[in-house]
Amino acid sequence: MSFGRRVHIKTDEEVELLRESSLLVGKTLAAVADRIKPGVTTLELDAVAEEFIRDHGGEPGFKGYGGFPNSLCTSVNEAVVHGIPNDKPLVDGDIVSVDCGVLKNEFYGDSAYTFAVGEIAPEVQQLLEVTKECLQKAIEQAIVGKRIGDIGFACQHHAEQHGYGVVRELVGHGLGRSLHEAPEVPNYGRRGNGPRLMDGMVLAIEPMINLGRKEVFHEEDGWTIVTADRKVSAHFEHDIVVRKDQADVLSSFDEIEKVLQQQKRKV
Ligand code: MG
Ligand code: MG
Repeated sequence: MSFGRRVHIKTDEEVELLRESSLLVGKTLAAVADRIKPGVTTLELDAVAEEFIRDHGGEPGFKGYGGFPNSLCTSVNEAVVHGIPNDKPLVDGDIVSVDCGVLKNEFYGDSAYTFAVGEIAPEVQQLLEVTKECLQKAIEQAIVGKRIGDIGFACQHHAEQHGYGVVRELVGHGLGRSLHEAPEVPNYGRRGNGPRLMDGMVLAIEPMINLGRKEVFHEEDGWTIVTADRKVSAHFEHDIVVRKDQADVLSSFDEIEKVLQQQKRKV
C-alpha cells in the first residue's frame, strides 16, 4: 500500500472536519459494541455499521477501498487486521478487532477497538488492556519536536515489557482527504529516529500487538493478516493531531465504553 510521500499539514478547519468524521467512527463502533455477543456474526455487525454511518451523513470509508468488500474489518482471535466480515457466529471467549472508516465532508475517520465476546481468558484480557496502554503511551509522544520513532519506541517498549510481539508488517499512517497518507507510523522504532512531528500533522496510531510472536502472514482471502503462531492479537486505533504540549485526540472510545459498562451492569 502506498502512503504517498507528502505530509499534508491540516488547517484548523480541516482538523474540525476530521474530528467530525473520527467521532462518527466512535459512535458507529458503539452501535456495533451494543450488538456484540456470542451468536452474532461479523456480517451482522457490518450491516449495523453501514446503516449507522449512512444514517449520519457519512459513507463507509473502507467499502470498495482497494477492493475491500465491507464497511468494517472484523479480525477474530488470531486474525490481526483486515478480516472480512463473514457469517460465522462469534463464540464465548473470542476477541474481535473491529476497525471502521468513515468518509464525511471529504475527510476520513479511522478508528479501531478490540472487543471481548462473553467471558475471555485473563491472559487475553491483559493483552487487550496492555494494547490500549500502548496506544496511550504512543499518543503521549505525538507532540511537536518529537519524531515518528519516539511514537514507535513507546509502543514497542511497553508491549515487549509484557512479552508480547509487535507486528512489523503493518503500520499507522497519516490521515486526511486520503485514508492513508504519509508518514507511516510504525508501532516499533528507535527514539529520536524518523520524520519530525509538526503542528497540524494528523496521524492514525494503531498498535497491533500479539500475545505470542510478532510474525504474521497473509491469509488466502488476500486480505486477512493472521499471527504465524495462531495466538491471539489485539488492535486499537485513534486519530490524533500533533500539537505543542499534548496531542489532540480526534476519535473517542467514550461512547463505546459507555455501552460496555452498561452491558457489564446487566450481567
Ligand atoms: Mg483503522
Ligand atoms: Mg488505520
